Amino acid sequence: MGKSRRVAFLSEHADPTALLGGVDAGGQNVYVDEISRNLAQLGYTVDVFTRRDNPDTPEVIEWAPGVRVIHLTAGPATFLLKDELWPLMPEFRDAFLRFQERSGTHYDLIHSNFWLSGWVAAELRERLRIPAVQIFHAMGITKRRHQQEADTSPSERIQVEHEIIQRVDRLIAQCPGEQHELIEDYRADPAKIVMIPSAVNTSLFYPVNREEARRRVTCELHSDDFVIVYVGRMLPRKDARNIVRALAILLHEHGPLPSVKLVLVGGESMEPDPPLTPEIGALQELAAELGVADRVVFVGKRQPEVLRYYYCAGDVAVTTPWYEPFGLTPLEGQACGRPVIGSAVGGITFTIADGETGLLVPPRDPAALAERLYQLFKDRALCERMGEAARQRVEREFTWPVAARRTAELYQALLQEWRQPVSTITRASSRR
Ligand code: UDP
Repeated sequence: MGKSRRVAFLSEHADPTALLGGVDAGGQNVYVDEISRNLAQLGYTVDVFTRRDNPDTPEVIEWAPGVRVIHLTAGPATFLLKDELWPLMPEFRDAFLRFQERSGTHYDLIHSNFWLSGWVAAELRERLRIPAVQIFHAMGITKRRHQQEADTSPSERIQVEHEIIQRVDRLIAQCPGEQHELIEDYRADPAKIVMIPSAVNTSLFYPVNREEARRRVTCELHSDDFVIVYVGRMLPRKDARNIVRALAILLHEHGPLPSVKLVLVGGESMEPDPPLTPEIGALQELAAELGVADRVVFVGKRQPEVLRYYYCAGDVAVTTPWYEPFGLTPLEGQACGRPVIGSAVGGITFTIADGETGLLVPPRDPAALAERLYQLFKDRALCERMGEAARQRVEREFTWPVAARRTAELYQALLQEWRQPVSTITRASSRR
């Protein structure tokens, strides 16, 4: 039944054709890319609508078999932070409608990402009378709770999220934590929520021999080094500073340990550039202040095609954000057969099996992280065992074809529901 169904994927800021690792290009871009490709494999036709942020980008890109990326003009054709996009959403909606009319395309279903596109989806659902599925990727209440005055989201965000929850047909939660937030913080109807864990591309992220990986990466690592790897956007919330502090504690408490190194991957450019990526500057200053600058290697951003070498050059991957709605990087590290130490927050408590595939630590607690690092430093056999268990668990539970199949099942159920007598649909709409 999935054959030839056409889905409009809305993702105003996260363009699957963008390079990853910069300030607003992370997990959502990966999600849109992977789910759309895998849905196309199941017979769906997917058009991904995103905002044009470069005048030279073609309007339509044939991105993968069955997947097009369509750049809609909404506001200036330059990069804008996602927190600046809210006033442009009516224009984004109208540009979508114009494209649809001009191209004569009929969509069967809308799948929207983030609150901004969620608002557009709710609008389109009513105008086009087609079902809408929403995935938030991150919730405003959680962000405000953790970031307080540093939260630069528009003031309307939380109210609009409440409205979207009422107006769309289904909500995808990526993990139990997100499901809990939707129900407890937003009073979402549990019957509307479907849990579909995000995943990792196991043909891009797979174990590579450590020696080979160390030869492939662009930083100098010796075969007897104990290497800690961080991969991710360089933002205060990701708290790579916590890892630098833990490194300093580890070296202070347990001797000089000359072989221990920390490799940090991410940033706005391929070379570490503090003016362009202020968080890199802050990390460099901190490392110097704590006397560990010679142990920390800044790589800059790298694209997914080579990231396995960075994960596999490491003995352990670490990510200790203050909070994390889901977090793809812990899955990537595990898919590469490495144990991952992560903070016990959000999706990370779901993706790391504590003590089996990695270790959980409290966020903002460098001493606890240092202890866990020392435990793995001393026991390489444990590292190996956890790494193997990690890869196996990822293959069993976190692959994109499985996530896409569950998404397709959700679409089918919804389309079936919408084919029922009008009263059913009216009931769904009247939840507003
Ligand atoms: N990433 C990348 N290159 C980099 C840094 C990060 O490709 O230099 C990718 C990383 O591999 C992951 C994504 O960006 O797939 C980050 O997603 P995650 O869910 O971990 O965090 P988010 O950035 O969405 O908060």
